[in-house]
Amino acid sequence: MITLQSIYKNYGTVSALHDVSVECESGSTTILLGESGSGKSTILRLVAGLIEADKGMVSIAGEVLTPSVLPTIRAQMGYVIQEGGLFPHLTAQENVALMARHVGWSDGKIQERCGELLDVVRLPADTLLRYPAQLSGGQRQRVALMRALMLKPSVLLLDEPFAALDPLVRREIQRDVREIIATLRITTLLVTHDIREAEFFCEAETNNQTGTETQKNVVILQNGRVVQQGTMRSLRHAPANAFVEAFLALSSF
Ligand code: ADP
Ligand code: MG
Repeated sequence: MITLQSIYKNYGTVSALHDVSVECESGSTTILLGESGSGKSTILRLVAGLIEADKGMVSIAGEVLTPSVLPTIRAQMGYVIQEGGLFPHLTAQENVALMARHVGWSDGKIQERCGELLDVVRLPADTLLRYPAQLSGGQRQRVALMRALMLKPSVLLLDEPFAALDPLVRREIQRDVREIIATLRITTLLVTHDIREAEFFCEAETNNQTGTETQKNVVILQNGRVVQQGTMRSLRHAPANAFVEAFLALSSF
């Protein structure tokens, strides 16, 4: 479980987050949905420990995020951003292996894990020999996903990872990512400004073991505030205000 409790964050005079509280259930996906500038990336950066809140608390699996526990918690976290964030001067393989090397994995263990992940993200092995500039946008995001999954994270942070892709590629990778996070049951925070993408990740999906429906939580942000959260169905049923109603209506175009 990831918990943000009454978070405030200002950048100079800009209030990026104002009294934001969000709970992300373990093993399920929480979607942060809002317009550009509403504070979505700021939330992910706080959870990743890249920035600190002015006020409020972030905790992960019951542990409050402080500088002393950050390295341990970061090692259990995968993070993918819009452009993938791959280092351009490293091959895909070197990008993927970076953290594993840092924590002292052997070459053999790295090779084995890369082999597993190539299957998971559906990439041919030779992709790993190339530099990011030699990959298509979709391939780059698949490599970025591999890198994020390398250390078998318990938390996955996805900051608009599909936004720069063309529609067909986007749909394929969305489908694969949805399947991966459902199969691995990773606690996922997905940021998007796209209501259709939010809906796609919210489509009821049945857990084969228990037959229960996974609850997907959607958090709608506006100007650094949470305006509503709940299942997509509950938001549609009773939008909190005209903004939410207008935003949800965009999916029917
Ligand atoms: P989103 O991801 O929803 O587009 P962000 O979290 O990136 O929004 O930004 C929220 C607000 O904070 C915006 O007004 C943005 O301009 C501002 N902001 C974000 N990062 C910085 C920064 N490093 N310095 C100053 N202002 C920032
Ligand atoms: Mg953003």
